[in-house]
Amino acid sequence: MTKPTQLQVEAIKDGTVIDHIPAHVGTKVLKLFAMHKSNERVTIGLNLPSSALGAKDILKIENVFINEEQASKLALYAPCATVNRIEDYRVVKKLELELPSAVKGVFACPNSNCITHGEPVESHFSVIEKKDSIRLKCKYCEKVYSREVVTEL
Ligand SMILES: [Zn+2]
Repeated sequence: MTKPTQLQVEAIKDGTVIDHIPAHVGTKVLKLFAMHKSNERVTIGLNLPSSALGAKDILKIENVFINEEQASKLALYAPCATVNRIEDYRVVKKLELELPSAVKGVFACPNSNCITHGEPVESHFSVIEKKDSIRLKCKYCEKVYSREVVTEL
C-alpha cells in the first residue's frame, strides 16, 4: 500500500478495518452490521482511488471486532474485501472472507408472495456458487435470485 492511500483515512487504535469494498457497497455494509446505529466511532471513506478496483470504500470501526459469521455475510456483498483486526494501531489478524452455505434472517425474499412476508418466519437462503456468479435460493418459495437482486433490497 502506498503512503497517500494510508493517509486517506485516519488510523485507528483498536477495531476493525474493512478495506477494498467495491465503491457504493460501503454504506450497505454499514447497515448490514448496524454500524450506522453504533455509538462507536466509525470512519467511512467512500469512492477512494484504488489500483485494483478503480474506486473503493473503506470502513473503520473503533472497538468493534467482526466475527466469522459477520465476515461470511460480508462476503456476499464484497467477496474481495479485506478485513483487518487492529490492536494498538497494528494489524493483528486478517479475516478470510468465505461464502456461507446459507444466510438466515438477513435479507428479505424478493418474492412478495413468499410466506416469509406474511408469517413470522425468518428468511432463509441457500447460497449457490456458479462460476463467477453467486445465487441465493429461498428455502420457502424455492425461487433463485442473483446475489445483487437480494442484497439490493
Ligand atoms: Zn421466498
